[in-house]
Amino acid sequence: MKRCEVCGEALPFLGLAYHPPVCSLECLVALLKNRALFPHKPPDTLEGVEVYPHTRSFHSAFEEEVWRALRPHVTLEYEPYAIRVNETPRRMYVPDFYVPEAGLFLEIKGRPRNMKGFLKAQEMVDIYMISSKWWKLCRKKKKK
Ligand SMILES: [Zn+2]
Repeated sequence: MKRCEVCGEALPFLGLAYHPPVCSLECLVALLKNRALFPHKPPDTLEGVEVYPHTRSFHSAFEEEVWRALRPHVTLEYEPYAIRVNETPRRMYVPDFYVPEAGLFLEIKGRPRNMKGFLKAQEMVDIYMISSKWWKLCRKKKKK
């Protein structure tokens, strides 16, 4: 059984390959802060990652909800980078959030589908998926 990387609690069996390996919002924040102890290079120094000049606001209410929950705890950037997931035809994948201190991307998706871009991006950068199912499970959890 997989356990939360922060507190050791059992994780629900739910897309363990792509959701954050933690059991709650609190543990997600702790994971991000722990990663922040190690320096991270800007992603655009990596092969296939570019700055994405994107200034649009949230695509969904769910994105905004996650942003509001995390923003008091960690610095978040909205769609700052694009990842080249295919050469010809050229296809760029733009994860929703980047946590600069943690050097980590977060993809916010109500229902994970069309995972091809995400899985390719996962080979190139550190990225986790936050689905609404996962989010609900983790928000419910209260620390004793
Ligand atoms: Zn935990």
